Amino acid sequence: MPELPEVETIARGLDKRVRGDVIEAVWLGKHREPLKSSAREIAAALAGTRIAQVRRIGKHIVFDLELKASRNRKESRQWIVHLGMTGRMLVCSPEEESPKHTHAIATLSSGRELRFVDPRRFGRLSVTMEQAFTGPGSEPLTVTPEEFVRLFHGRKTPIKAALLNQKLLHGVGNIYADESLFRAGIRPRRQAGRLTRAELDRLHAALKEVLREAIKLGGSSVSDYVDAEGREGFFQLQHRVYLRTGKPCLVCKTPIKRFVLGGRGTHYCPKCQR
Ligand SMILES: [Zn+2]
Repeated sequence: MPELPEVETIARGLDKRVRGDVIEAVWLGKHREPLKSSAREIAAALAGTRIAQVRRIGKHIVFDLELKASRNRKESRQWIVHLGMTGRMLVCSPEEESPKHTHAIATLSSGRELRFVDPRRFGRLSVTMEQAFTGPGSEPLTVTPEEFVRLFHGRKTPIKAALLNQKLLHGVGNIYADESLFRAGIRPRRQAGRLTRAELDRLHAALKEVLREAIKLGGSSVSDYVDAEGREGFFQLQHRVYLRTGKPCLVCKTPIKRFVLGGRGTHYCPKCQR
């Protein structure tokens, strides 16, 4: 499942390749699951638009589109792509064979194609016509320290669960929740509303740090995810606790512990995290 840093990497790679290009036509496959908006809506919204920008919001890839002929800058359209478990957005030349499980093809005026490929079909495509998509919660990389503290005020849930709550912060997944709590020295089960300001400031800094490091790692391998010849699989940050159950903590050598919190495997160091 692509996490925030991977989606950021993919969005940046797509932006570099297709910004300014015009979507001339759209083909949609026969499977309906990947289509959150109807096929007709998607085709009508996309065809004839210019890709003004591609960016990430939460774990979504958002194409900001403008009508080629329109001077009306207020009219905003967006193509929103969620990659689900196995979804990929590829920039291809039309001669390249369409892989099996291709669900959407946008033909670009540059002569290339933008393809959405998803074997397991958990990915979702949708469009917005008037109301711009902003995502369900705050953006973890740009939320201010004050907003960050306010998100957890009075919350009785464990801090790990609060970090994963997409209505508070969108885009934080299991890996980055565990890794940021380790770096901040906070136990995953601590009640969110009971953390001190100093602890929340540490957590905020750690979360941004761990996400930025992962994005930086992805920068060099971006072509693996958006170019058709790229290989499968995502880059990995050197995890300090995630999936290191029983292995020595990299700081204090205490074995890393694992338990299940809200259905998610949770990893922490019993000595470094309080
Ligand atoms: Zn430790």
